[in-house]
Amino acid sequence: MEQPKRLIDKLEATSMLTKEEWVALIESRNEGVAAYLFEKARKCQYQYYGNRIYTRGLIEFTNYCKNDCYYCGIRRSNRNAKRYRLAKEQILECCQMGYGLGFRTFVLQGGEDGWFTQEKLEDIVCAIKRGYPDCALTLSIGERSKESYQRLFEAGADRYLLRHETADETHYGILHPPELSANHRKQCLWDLKEIGYQTGTGFMVGSPGQTVEHLAEDLLFIRELTPHMVGIGPFVPHHDTPFAAEVGGTVELTLFLIGLLRVMLPKLLLPATTALGTIDPNGREKGVLAGANVVMPNLSPVSVRKKYELYDNKICTGEEAAECQDCLRRRMENIGYKLVVDRGDYCQ
Ligand code: SAH
Repeated sequence: MEQPKRLIDKLEATSMLTKEEWVALIESRNEGVAAYLFEKARKCQYQYYGNRIYTRGLIEFTNYCKNDCYYCGIRRSNRNAKRYRLAKEQILECCQMGYGLGFRTFVLQGGEDGWFTQEKLEDIVCAIKRGYPDCALTLSIGERSKESYQRLFEAGADRYLLRHETADETHYGILHPPELSANHRKQCLWDLKEIGYQTGTGFMVGSPGQTVEHLAEDLLFIRELTPHMVGIGPFVPHHDTPFAAEVGGTVELTLFLIGLLRVMLPKLLLPATTALGTIDPNGREKGVLAGANVVMPNLSPVSVRKKYELYDNKICTGEEAAECQDCLRRRMENIGYKLVVDRGDYCQ
């Protein structure tokens, strides 16, 4: 048997590879190796989740951000970004519409916006959980103190998404201004896990300066953290950022990494991301067939959709949530999977 296939077998048997083995496996991949990997990935996915695909209703509630990440379209230095915030009532309206469409998880995502104080955030979390006690609530609002995470958890938040972006400190410094660090980001993830959140991390594939060694470090970090969710998607350049002229990540490598993650941690909640759907019209279907089991359609009001522009050409910015949901349902049924009305918790 070829060496890369042997490494995939080892990964399946032990859920662990050394850094050198990760590098060798990623570097020696080809179509045959990918097909071998995806078949195993689908078997793992089927064993724990069947052909069920979980949906999360994404509410992008603010695009104000105090950070200046070089890749991100809503970084504070982007003077061309049209800024907006949703009021609490608007957020609750999104939930109401989403609930009617069958969503049982809401994800509040935004830039790091100080206007939403701890008190305001806790109030919104409480209101959502009061209105929709059978739903899970996920937060994705960046780096905060452990105390803040703790209080939001006590207010009712169930899950938290915070991609580590890259596990390598030097590479982190290529993607972020000096006031941000990989170490602090990782510490936040350990805090979130300790508090009891279902915790999600992740990274961009093909971000500027990323090497195969960095990807190996990402996989080692994820193995160590053993999060409940991992969101990965291709880096897509945004025209108003310092990385406007950089090359984006590929579908091929993103899919391969989704497959590796599914085989390494078979119970993971793994989204087929919007970024993947943006660079390939069938990206999300391909993601599911590589091992993903979650989709995150947009529930934000159509009036603000275009303004939450992290990267260029983001899909689904002109569609009502119901249209997005129908479209995704059809796409999943076409490949033999079904969207379910379910909180979609991590399989214990
Ligand atoms: N402020 C929150 C939410 C960030 S947006 C936080 O700090 O976690 C969610 C994710 O979008 C980011 O973690 C990043 O991985 C991704 N993202 C941002 N800009 C991107 C780009 N240009 N291409 C692809 N993904 C991007």
